[in-house]
Amino acid sequence: MTDSTQLELLRKIPAVDQLLLLPGISSWVERTSRGFVVSEIQKVLEETRDAIRSGDESAVSQISSGSLERLLNDRLHACLQPALRAAINATGVILHTNLGRAPLSAAAQQSLSALSGQYTNLEYDLNSGGRSHRDKLVEPLLKEILGCEAATAVNNNAAAVFLILNTLACGREVIVSRGELVEIGGSFRIPDILMRSGAILREVGTTNKTRVQDYQTAVNPNTALLLRVHPSNYRMHGFTQRPDLPDLIELAKSLGIPLVEDIGSGCLRDLKPYGISDEPIAQESLAAGVDLVCFSCDKLLGGPQAGIIAGASRWIDLIRKNPLMRTYRVEKLIYGALEATLASYRTGRAITEIPVLRMISMSREEIRARARAFVRRARKRLSLGVRLELIEGDSVVGGGSCPESSLPTFLIALVSDKHKANTLESRLRLQDPPVIPRVEEDRTLIDLRTVSPVQESALLDALCNALSL
Ligand SMILES: *Cc1c(COP(=O)(O)O)cnc(C)c1O
Repeated sequence: MTDSTQLELLRKIPAVDQLLLLPGISSWVERTSRGFVVSEIQKVLEETRDAIRSGDESAVSQISSGSLERLLNDRLHACLQPALRAAINATGVILHTNLGRAPLSAAAQQSLSALSGQYTNLEYDLNSGGRSHRDKLVEPLLKEILGCEAATAVNNNAAAVFLILNTLACGREVIVSRGELVEIGGSFRIPDILMRSGAILREVGTTNKTRVQDYQTAVNPNTALLLRVHPSNYRMHGFTQRPDLPDLIELAKSLGIPLVEDIGSGCLRDLKPYGISDEPIAQESLAAGVDLVCFSCDKLLGGPQAGIIAGASRWIDLIRKNPLMRTYRVEKLIYGALEATLASYRTGRAITEIPVLRMISMSREEIRARARAFVRRARKRLSLGVRLELIEGDSVVGGGSCPESSLPTFLIALVSDKHKANTLESRLRLQDPPVIPRVEEDRTLIDLRTVSPVQESALLDALCNALSL
């Protein structure tokens, strides 16, 4: 491109005001604001000028009003596309941390929409007209469900562990088994949290074996508490030993030192009938005599992101008075969603009402029936060159829980003559709503366990789009 051609092209670029008059653009001004649209026009025009100056031939076709209008339209659409979007989780990983862990129950969703645009009695006592504490919103339910003296909510379980340690053990020793110094999801490591809380880590036992005796020997006047951590995301096999909870409780009681258990997932129900056998149940730990338990609300519990600390009121009262409590304070909408989720446990309807538990309890026959019906619908719409078959497989709980429990399922395997599995995976991911499948051995797999029946039509549309391109 010669200099004079470049000058010629630069002169041909329409002015901002000219573009604002185009119907496709002026409608954006009405829907948003002139300032916003003008700033996007200026960006696009600047990019066009840069392209011309750098001799980019493709810029030539871009400078007509028509193509600038189309380009701007796409840009403005993209600007308004939210970064956080609803997605279809077809991976069969129920608690997928990257996909936001637990989807909320219908009641929790209703609570969010009922409360979010309104004032609430968050910290207002409707009976006395005086001030109240936000914890009062969920503490009665937690006390009923867990059978504990007191309970408080914080932003997540990491905050719960931190606050417990900071309140009860700052400057003092915390005894932890070497087999329980776990890392959960990269940024949460028990030794690091412990150090930041101001507590001093006193490791006991070995990686594979820790006995009650090891705790006993390590106790000294500076011991603040015994910490037991559920090794959520891994299991040890072979020559291993971990004290039985009752023995540890007995030791803690005899020494007058609190025993704190980070149970991780917030399992509030026996899930053994569904194949999940190694998750500690909060009520059982508390009933056995653990002084404080803490757990996440968006893992097996199936609620919004929060952390619960429950147990003896003498410790909970101290934790509530910790000035750092304020930095982990739970937001009003979360209280609403949490209360609605907990209500399902209280009324004995958790398995049917809470999506995470419903997915866990779904039988493979139920999934097979849904998958068969889905495949029949899909075959009617999909083009030649695409094969769908049902294969046996496993779903997993995920989210750093139950690493060894797998839930038998039926997977829909997609094989396309045109697209490799990875291409298909990326096409599915770019649909609206995005679909996240599993890829194994050059097959794209769909597990309906984590897809709700109401999402099936959208899933089918996404599949057709992705396969037809
Ligand atoms: C998941 C987990 C945590 C962290 O909980 P978040 O709610 O993600 O902060 C802490 N401890 C254990 C044992 C866990 O499993």
